[in-house]
Order: sequence, then structure tokens, then C-alpha cells
Amino acid sequence: MFPFFRYYLFFFYLLSSVFLFSSVFPATTPLDFTTATAAFDASNNYVWRNFARFLDAGKGSEVTGMSELKKYLNRFGYLPVSPENNFSDFVDDQFVSALILYQKRLGLSVTGKLDSETIASIMSPRCGMSDLIKINDATTSTIHSTRRYAFFNGQPRWIRGSTLTYALSPDYTIEYLTSSEIRNVVRRSFSRWSAVIPLNFTESLDYESSDIRIGFYQGDHGDGEAFDGVLGVLAHAFSPENGRLHLDAAERWAVDFEKEKSKVAVDLESVVTHEIGHVLGLAHSAVKEAVMYPSLSPRGKKVELRMDDVEGVQALYGSNPNFKLDSFLESEKSTNTGSSNTTNFFSFFFFSLFFFIFVWF
Ligand SMILES: [Zn+2]
Ligand SMILES: [Zn+2]
Repeated sequence: MFPFFRYYLFFFYLLSSVFLFSSVFPATTPLDFTTATAAFDASNNYVWRNFARFLDAGKGSEVTGMSELKKYLNRFGYLPVSPENNFSDFVDDQFVSALILYQKRLGLSVTGKLDSETIASIMSPRCGMSDLIKINDATTSTIHSTRRYAFFNGQPRWIRGSTLTYALSPDYTIEYLTSSEIRNVVRRSFSRWSAVIPLNFTESLDYESSDIRIGFYQGDHGDGEAFDGVLGVLAHAFSPENGRLHLDAAERWAVDFEKEKSKVAVDLESVVTHEIGHVLGLAHSAVKEAVMYPSLSPRGKKVELRMDDVEGVQALYGSNPNFKLDSFLESEKSTNTGSSNTTNFFSFFFFSLFFFIFVWF
């Protein structure tokens, strides 16, 4: 009876460790090819789902539909338009060069191949803005030697005053979230940026006269950048001092993943925070953890500014006098969930191991 009890305990110990391990490292992060495709399985209708079949297509091969992937790389700034204005289905030298550029710009392993990491990244929903804008490659940063933030050409920024107004479109909205849910999300998103730069954002009820105008739009909505349905492109915005911030109305926008169960739901706060970065003058960052990184997995959340975002926006506007670098770096460290979860896991592991030994003997 007693040995049986001890084996039972050992089994329980193993099971609980495995369970804890899987909950500390949820399968949705980091994004890899299998989770990318599995996560989207709920909808057979999402954009770029067909790119999965290009996995491992090698140089010289011809795969039907590869021209669509070339159009994708062209759209986001990696591949020039071909002279005949159409793309072939061949994996040629120019395509491989574009792929290498893409891998470098997105912080992936630079293989020049359609490997699983690259395909997962390409299939991942993302911002509609192009990635290739002149990169600020200054290497003089004293804080991070890997500064990867970027500006739009000419480094435009808001110069009309220290307080900007924003408003939500009364007409272009979505029905399944309440107005106050959306407004709370937008207010929080602006407050993250205003905490680090000397700019204030106040909500206005006069949409037309507001500096920053936010709305949910469907398909072709008149600015030359049509939205594409579920996933694919999630949103886009315009550089200073234009002020337009557009969200794809076809997405299943979520403010709370406890309530919103759709596998293809997109976190509204993460996307609005990212797009405000564009409104302020930041282009895409190559730092995966940064808010200004171009892609976001379904049901993923990335709302806290990272040092790369802060350095970028402060290079444009200077620092908020109340911004404390030390406490920011401290909170950045504690939100680095990977390492703290690893620590938690090992603490639990060793605690339970000692407990087990104690009970066994
Ligand atoms: Zn973007
Ligand atoms: Zn638009």
C-alpha cells in the first residue's frame, strides 16, 4: 500500500510539472509554423492561408500561386515591380534576395529560404504599412546597441502644439463592442505614448476637426489601401501630420480574451497602440518584442512600449519630464515574461522536488 502511494506521488509530481510547464510556456508564443497554422484553423477564410503550401519551395522551383507571395513582398517593400508588371511563379534570384531582405528586416534567421519560421512570419496578420523605409542605423545608443526603430522619410513629426486631439468616427465603427469599451482602449493606448514624450492627447467629440481621426473601415475605403477581410492586414495609419488611423472592420476585434473566444480575434489595444506609433512618426521596428514590430498573432497581446519604441519616439519629440528611465527599464525587465516565467518554473520544480524527496523518505 505504501509503495503504491509513493509511486502515485511520483506520478502526480511528474504530471504537475508537465502541466505547469505547458501553462508557463503557452503554445501560442513564440509564434512558430505549427502554431501559426493551428491558431488560424478556426477560420478557413483568413487571408494568406495559402502561403503555407510554399514551405521549403527551393530556388529554381515553380509553384502555382508563388506570384501571390511575390505580390506580398512587393506590397511591403521588398520586391520591385517587374517590368511586365506581373510576377512569375518561379523562385528566382530576385525573389531570394527579397526573402533575405525580409528575414533581416523582421529579425528572422537569414537563410534565403522559405523555411517554417519565414512562412509563419509571412502568414501572420500584420500592419498594412510598408516595412522598408530608411532605417535609423545610428550605433551611438548608450542603452541598447541594437537600436532598430525607424522613421518615415524626412522624419515628419507633429509640430502644431503639445496637445493633440483625437476622435472616434461616429459612422465608421463596429457594433459588437460598446463605445465606452473602445474609448477606454484608445485612451489607454494614447497614455502609453504620452507617458514618455512631452505630448498630451485629449478626446474630442468633433470628429472632423480632430488632429487624429480613428475609424473602422471595410474593404476599399477610398485611400488607396483597401482592407482585405479576416486577418491579413489588420490596420494602417498615416505619417505626421495627417492623423488618420484606420482599423479593418472585418477583423474580430477583442478588448477581453476571456469574453471573446474566436480563434482569429485580434487585440484592439495592441493594434491601436502600434498604429498611434505611426501617427506619431515611427515606422516599423525590427525588434520582435517592440510595439512597432509589424506583425501580431491572433489572440496575441503586445501593449507595453519597449525600450526600442521609447528611444524612437523620444528621438522625434524628446522625453516627457516625468519619464524615469530607471523605473522604465525595471518594469521592462519585469514584463519580460519569458525569463520570469522560467524562473518561476524552476523555483516550482526544485520546491516540488524537495517536497517529493521529503515525502518519499
Ligand atoms: Zn505598422
Ligand atoms: Zn485607410
